[in-house]
Amino acid sequence: MRPAHALIDLSALRHNYQLAKSLSGCRAFAVIKANAYGHGALRCAAALHDADAFAVACIEEALELRAAGIRQPILLLEGWFEADELPLLAEHDLWAVLHHEEQLLQLQDATLSRPLHIWLKLDSGMHRVGFSPDEYASIWQRLAALPQVASLSKITHFSRADEPETGRTEQQLATFAAATAGLEGPASLCNSPGILAWPQAHHDWLRPGIMLYGATPFEFEQEQAAQLRPVMQLRSRIIATRELPVGEPIGYGSRFVTTRPTRVGVVAMGYADGYPRHAKDGTPVLIDGQRSQLIGRVSMDMLTVDLTELPGSGLGSEVTLWGEGLNASEVAAWADSIPYQLFCNLNRVPRHYCD
Ligand SMILES: *Cc1c(COP(=O)(O)O)cnc(C)c1O
Repeated sequence: MRPAHALIDLSALRHNYQLAKSLSGCRAFAVIKANAYGHGALRCAAALHDADAFAVACIEEALELRAAGIRQPILLLEGWFEADELPLLAEHDLWAVLHHEEQLLQLQDATLSRPLHIWLKLDSGMHRVGFSPDEYASIWQRLAALPQVASLSKITHFSRADEPETGRTEQQLATFAAATAGLEGPASLCNSPGILAWPQAHHDWLRPGIMLYGATPFEFEQEQAAQLRPVMQLRSRIIATRELPVGEPIGYGSRFVTTRPTRVGVVAMGYADGYPRHAKDGTPVLIDGQRSQLIGRVSMDMLTVDLTELPGSGLGSEVTLWGEGLNASEVAAWADSIPYQLFCNLNRVPRHYCD
């Protein structure tokens, strides 16, 4: 059996969720969209049996959770895309973000078995979705008058909470405060970097995503992020070794050329598994728990690492591509990517779970 696999530690997932809550005392949506960032949404949701609620990107993701018996509230982060979803939202008790006038018109025309819990999105500066600050209060009043609305809550999203020095989050907080002044209802502002670095923004409901999976959203050391535990160990083994003299190229395009006598290890892991093809020479890997590095281009099913300084390692040695001792964020930086994308790209490798 091919040794590539992802080992998912569900107790680490629960630890990270509880960390988000303990930093704030707020309630929290566990964000498990995109198959829980590649970690397996059904297993993650079941493991988070104490979670206050979940958040996903669309009704398709939510209905899978309902079919699997998940009972907590589920928030649709972009609400519904077409009006015919509305009766299903009511039937399955799905909460919805409302970010566009068209959605308001569809809601007021809908006949529903029960009214919906609506989270009205403010565009406080991300400029992706949501109502502008000057129209927010009037949209709120229109919704408040609809019989299709059971409750109204406030929601907005930060664009640069992972970059505390930019001043952008302070601006968004001020915009949020001004636009929602006098509107009574719970508020949700914080994604993972907001939760970890912006306690003044916590309000009522958090939305932890990447931090649940134990990857830091920051490019610098951060005190709270240091308490996260990685959930995924992406692992495989060395399936071949060879000794090369100075001046020999390795792999496609001869990107890496040896500058010393080099012992090369071949790992059963490639870009078809989701390992980033753009990982540069020098990208860290762990071989039997010790640091080494990628040398040569990543292939579809294999990649090559430097074993020269690890004489005790060889055929069959365990390789960790990311996980304990090697944060996915660090690997992502070597591939001009982010841990979010590394996780979401996970493919082909079987997921094994432990608890
Ligand atoms: C995905 C998402 C989140 C989670 O963000 P992280 O950075 O992964 O914590 C929070 N809020 C919204 C609206 C999202 O789309």
